[in-house]
Amino acid sequence: MKILVINAGSSSLKYQFMESEGGEVFAKGLCERIGIDGRLTHKVPGRENVVMDIPMPTHNEAIQAVLDIMVDPEKGVIASTDEIAAVGHRVLHGGAAFTESCIIDDACIDAIKKCIPLGPLHNPANLMGIEACQKIMPKTPQVAVFDTAFHMTMPPKAYIYAIPYEYYEKDDVRRYGFHGTSHRYVSARAIDMLGSPEHSRVISCHLGNGSSLAAVVDGKVVDTSMGLGPLAGFPMGTRSGDIDATILEYLMGRYGYDIKEMLNILNKKSGVLGISGVSSDFRDIEAAADEGNERAKLALEKFEYEVKKFIGAYASAMGGVDAILFTAGVGENSAEMRARICKGLEYMGVKLDEEKNKVRGKEAVISADDSKVKIFVIPTNEELMIAMDTAALCGK
Ligand code: AMP
Repeated sequence: MKILVINAGSSSLKYQFMESEGGEVFAKGLCERIGIDGRLTHKVPGRENVVMDIPMPTHNEAIQAVLDIMVDPEKGVIASTDEIAAVGHRVLHGGAAFTESCIIDDACIDAIKKCIPLGPLHNPANLMGIEACQKIMPKTPQVAVFDTAFHMTMPPKAYIYAIPYEYYEKDDVRRYGFHGTSHRYVSARAIDMLGSPEHSRVISCHLGNGSSLAAVVDGKVVDTSMGLGPLAGFPMGTRSGDIDATILEYLMGRYGYDIKEMLNILNKKSGVLGISGVSSDFRDIEAAADEGNERAKLALEKFEYEVKKFIGAYASAMGGVDAILFTAGVGENSAEMRARICKGLEYMGVKLDEEKNKVRGKEAVISADDSKVKIFVIPTNEELMIAMDTAALCGK
């Protein structure tokens, strides 16, 4: 089925028009500066990219611009929008209500709205994308695919926070986890690559600008590093990961920050950017470290150290590990970071093959032949997962 996959942000909207079976991408692009002025970048494989300034006061105009260019006789890829069988939307937070993807109807929209307090930055933007599609293409079925859904198999001991229980009962405070669509796609591939054994224990390392780990037993998540929101876990490009909450009170007292300013620091100015002072991009940090920048070296050491600790913790939680996989920008491309993370894990049967590790952006087995734990590089493909879910639900 030909599916339009939409990932709507507050002022941007990414789209990919693709075949759900096999994943061929016909066109993809980005609407930027929605609500400011508006710019469309449209890419069709084998053709030159198109960049156009188009007024986009709201997401409606952005979706309209996407549909217009898709059917444009020169720049487009389809004769009519009827060829779009269904639309799949990435939605950040589904709370505990959504354990899988669902067809978008009024009840689904209400449930996504109820999750706004849990995903205050993303869910309203995701809804704007959904509502724009409903308005512009009212007859086309739409599906919501939640970033949290794959993690809903976690047992209570993994998702409960050790704070008064009433906050869980009354206010839904618990670990949810994110990057679920990515972890689902890559962990399923890893299980295939293991030969689809009856019992499998996989640690999925999604290392990008935002990063998280998931412990996956027999295809089901038992723990993950992000929490109620995506700030938790280990240091990321600009996010702090887990920190002692006392730091908030201390810095807010010293500098008079309000909670918004404090969270902005933890979300946007922390992580490897905060430590290195160089960049949030691992390529820049690796280059600076190579030139002797001590803080860049420390940022990489901290990242490696914290990921390693999570791997150890998840191996313990699962009673062992059969495969560790690396995905997303850093995981797929940085042989150096993969090597750093695996070094020192030999005690648990993890043995990297330095030659095989010299791979970028493609699926590969990078463990030594005699490594007890298989190590994989598996490029993630969240859009394909969304397209597959959409097709599965709409084909019914
Ligand atoms: P993502 O969020 O998955 O798109 O990942 C983006 C991040 O991947 C960037 O911020 C870079 O830090 C990182 N990245 C991409 N290519 C490389 C590379 N060759 N070496 C190290 N890091 C990379």
